[in-house]
Amino acid sequence: MRLSKTFIKTLREAPKDEVAKNGALLTRAGYINKEMAGVYDYLPLGLRVIENIKTIIREELNKIGCEEVLLSSLQNPEPWEKSGRFSDQEVDIWFKTELSSGGELGLAPTHEEPITEMMKKYISSYKDLPLYVYQFQTKFRNELRAKSGILRGREFLMKDLYSFHTSEEDLDAFYAEVEKAYSRIYERLGIGDCTYETFASGGIFAKYSHEYQTILPVGEDKVFYNTDKSIVLNEEVYNDEVLADLGAENEKFESTNAAEVGNIFKLKIKYSEPLGLKFIDENNKPQTVYMGCYGIGVSRVMGVIAEKFADDKGLVWPETVAPFKYYLVGIGDKGTEEAEKFYTGREEEVLFDDRNKRPGEKFADSELMGIPLRIVISDKTMDENAAEITDRKTGKTWRVDLSELFEKF
Ligand code: ATP
Ligand code: MG
Repeated sequence: MRLSKTFIKTLREAPKDEVAKNGALLTRAGYINKEMAGVYDYLPLGLRVIENIKTIIREELNKIGCEEVLLSSLQNPEPWEKSGRFSDQEVDIWFKTELSSGGELGLAPTHEEPITEMMKKYISSYKDLPLYVYQFQTKFRNELRAKSGILRGREFLMKDLYSFHTSEEDLDAFYAEVEKAYSRIYERLGIGDCTYETFASGGIFAKYSHEYQTILPVGEDKVFYNTDKSIVLNEEVYNDEVLADLGAENEKFESTNAAEVGNIFKLKIKYSEPLGLKFIDENNKPQTVYMGCYGIGVSRVMGVIAEKFADDKGLVWPETVAPFKYYLVGIGDKGTEEAEKFYTGREEEVLFDDRNKRPGEKFADSELMGIPLRIVISDKTMDENAAEITDRKTGKTWRVDLSELFEKF
């Protein structure tokens, strides 16, 4: 991508109404645009980050046999009424609207009910099971506070996976597969070493659920961890009874702030029973389908990564999610000509700063945007048949021969 051709612009100052670091930095660096509190647009650079995150999640879910779909945002109240969740008393974050011909609709805050209802058409026998179905979908939630940039949106992107099983044992086995897939996903996203699977409250159908919490000072949640971090608990389950349950009653725990980047939940028959999702077993008897649900906050993950790794110069993306691998700057006539040559054929990996600006400004923008490696080809480096590489994370600079640059980069 050529910076001279894009409409995005970096800003010197953070917008006044943006109090969250992730929101301010992503706006300044040209990744997102704020429409209003909790509602953001994703610009070319931001969309590339979102797509990279989606690709990692998609690859890992497809590996364990999941199928991708896209369900609707407009919601028929009927299935939600069966579970009791259309009521504003039960669920206080609904956005609702009306058809011009009369009748209420909801804007999907999540999809347990619609997918359970839909599966009544596709699941009838034990031979149809198990099924693992996921989507990347925009969710709408009328969140009371939306001051955390893209960490808490009123409109946000979620990956939600739903699994359907003939038995609790089958659900348990798949749940364990998802746990493994999730740890690979967070590892690949670059937050593996600061993201923990935590015990969270489960509700009436399961004793515990699990959340994935990334340690982050501005995270809205509090987690408690033992010395070797082998046990991490959410605040709401940090009590004597649960500690005894986990055999950790004599361990020392400390607490820290964290952001919930995902969660997994054994729903069992919570939705399949009230909605009547059944299958005929081997003995020709009707049975209720067992379900699990598994979320990842895609846009929140982007905000967490932005917030977590940023330094005083700007964003610092892990290579796996960065919008581009290289930020290319040419200086002087010969240097610029050589940079053009390098750019040709590498348009997908290189963000080419070919704007009519001073090198200092280009360097500052490369740091603000957080592209992993900056490549500078100048008349001076050309005299030595070389280019200068700078690592965004470490700040280290070194030279490579032009032949090596064209071969290996
Ligand atoms: P939270 O406690 O943060 O409100 P939640 O328990 O309501 O989260 P889920 O309904 O389980 O979250 O949604 C799945 C995932 O979607 C969460 O783990 C989180 O990463 C993300 N998420 C939830 N609400 C938002 C939001 N308002 N903005 C951005 N991401 C969100
Ligand atoms: Mg919530």
